[in-house]
Amino acid sequence: MELIKLEKPEKLIDENNIRVDGRKLNDLRPIKMEVGVLPKANGSAYVEMGGNKILASVYGPREVHPRHLAESNKAVFRCLYRMATFSVDERKSPAPSRRENELSMVIGQALEPAIFLNYYPKTMIECTILVIQADGGTRCASINAASLALADAGIAMRGLVSAVAIGKADGKLIVDLNNVEDQFGEGDLPIAILYPLKEVSLIQFDGILTNEEFQQCINLAYDACEIIFNKQIEALHKRYSKEIIEKDNKKEA
Ligand code: ADP
Repeated sequence: MELIKLEKPEKLIDENNIRVDGRKLNDLRPIKMEVGVLPKANGSAYVEMGGNKILASVYGPREVHPRHLAESNKAVFRCLYRMATFSVDERKSPAPSRRENELSMVIGQALEPAIFLNYYPKTMIECTILVIQADGGTRCASINAASLALADAGIAMRGLVSAVAIGKADGKLIVDLNNVEDQFGEGDLPIAILYPLKEVSLIQFDGILTNEEFQQCINLAYDACEIIFNKQIEALHKRYSKEIIEKDNKKEA
């Protein structure tokens, strides 16, 4: 996917309702998902959403260090979001930024309702997310990747979390904002939905919307997240049906 230069375009949507990257208003960017990409981790996933390239790994449930942080009735879930120094146009400092710390918390809170933490008392589940390339909406792409990595680690979950950012540009609502739309648009509303329960586990907002537009954004998020959820399921099937076929072949041989 070609990245668009971060310069304020004359308009973000043309007279035919086509966006700067050629998409229609409700189109998602191309999505690629792969599960089990890091054999040394307990679970892992690689996700591309347009220009975003995200790697997520999960370790655990395992012993808590330091021990006094352990909880007697549930696992401690820790999420770490980091951007590679080469993930953005200008080299990003390797020191964790306030934004990265905030996003670690936000992503963790979006994922936590999906996990049966009470199944794993006195342990820790650790999810590390590395943004290899950023192009707007990395928190949503990270949630999608981390959710897959948790499932790949075999953690008991209520379902998968799927996330997308809905926004507004040139007065119109748009789905899955890229970096240019994120920076120069009029609003950005990242939403995460826990499937199949269809419960919202994250909603943030930056900008101004009418009540009606807000409701429309929620509806658009449900439609878009359903597509993402199906891609996540497809990625898990691809990984595990392949493994089952290989095992069956070995048995037969
Ligand atoms: P999100 O990635 O979830 O949309 P933000 O709204 O904070 O989170 O960031 C929007 C976009 O801005 C990011 O996806 C990335 O493309 C860009 N960005 C974030 N941090 C930096 C940075 N330090 N340098 C350059 N671009 C950045």
